[in-house]
Amino acid sequence: MAFQNATRNYSLDSLCDGVYAAFASDGGAAISNAGMVDLGDSTLIIDTFLTPSAAEELRADAQRLTGHIPGHVVNTHYHNDHIWGNQVFTPEADLISTIKTRVLIQTAGKEEYDDYRAITSDRLKDLLSQKAAAQTEAQRAALDLMIGYFAGLERDFPRLRVTLPNLVFENRMGLYGSRRRAELIAFSGAHTSSDTVVFLPYDGIVFMSDLLFVGFHPYLGDGSPDRWLEALNSILDGTAGIENAERFVPGHGPTGTVTDLQQLVDYIRDCQHIAQTLYKEGKTSQADVASTPIPAAYAKWTMPRFFYANLHFLLEKYQNMVNKSLPVKPNTASNSFRP
Ligand SMILES: [Zn+2]
Repeated sequence: MAFQNATRNYSLDSLCDGVYAAFASDGGAAISNAGMVDLGDSTLIIDTFLTPSAAEELRADAQRLTGHIPGHVVNTHYHNDHIWGNQVFTPEADLISTIKTRVLIQTAGKEEYDDYRAITSDRLKDLLSQKAAAQTEAQRAALDLMIGYFAGLERDFPRLRVTLPNLVFENRMGLYGSRRRAELIAFSGAHTSSDTVVFLPYDGIVFMSDLLFVGFHPYLGDGSPDRWLEALNSILDGTAGIENAERFVPGHGPTGTVTDLQQLVDYIRDCQHIAQTLYKEGKTSQADVASTPIPAAYAKWTMPRFFYANLHFLLEKYQNMVNKSLPVKPNTASNSFRP
């Protein structure tokens, strides 16, 4: 059952009694998906969006739908579109993450905050003038996600404070409520150095965050594609301890199934294969990558520019494997959106 939230930041979907997914709307200031789970005696929030404004709506919806002010919040990884709404859930909620994610919020995340504060006004002006000059509705629609991102930041930066988790774990953590249990399961080095998924064993639902993108090009450049494949395969074959799951809520895009996990496995392998072929043929220039067609299976996915970013990242990896003297570019925030 889907029902539209009153604002333009996200739409809510009830996955089963007491479990809701919030899907970010293009042009809004949520940017990533989030979840809310009625544990019975407490309400769990999974990720807090890009902005405090969007997070305030999530908090209010959670209270309205579950009858509780959220008492637990999970930060699945350190990327800003999943954690910059943290501040609205304190002091009532424990903010939970892996130890590594907390360190990343404090280090790379702090740099990201400073970088984005410096560029947001100019990026927003630039995007708005691009939209004004756009010739087609499709071009305007493609700019909406980015405009929502920077307009949301511009509005919220005066009060936005990066708020750190106060409760950390290493590999797994169970949250036992009076109504249901949530399993937090961490993976290393896949989408980022540390990514957490939330498994609801009684409901067959997994909140995958950015270990899954559905109908949306994933961003490979801040982790390890090989480790990401291992993580997805361990979920698919049951070795990660996730069994009988049927619905998988991604970090970006609509709810998926095991078919979508398998398709992401195929996508990562296809990107690796394409980049290896380009590398072997010496086609490593910007123009070579830009003229590479997106495989038909992914041609309609949102954010095609991530496909090209992924190829550049993989090519750079292969070059560094051969020539160790080449420095590996640090993964600091770019002047653009990175999910
Ligand atoms: Zn991410």
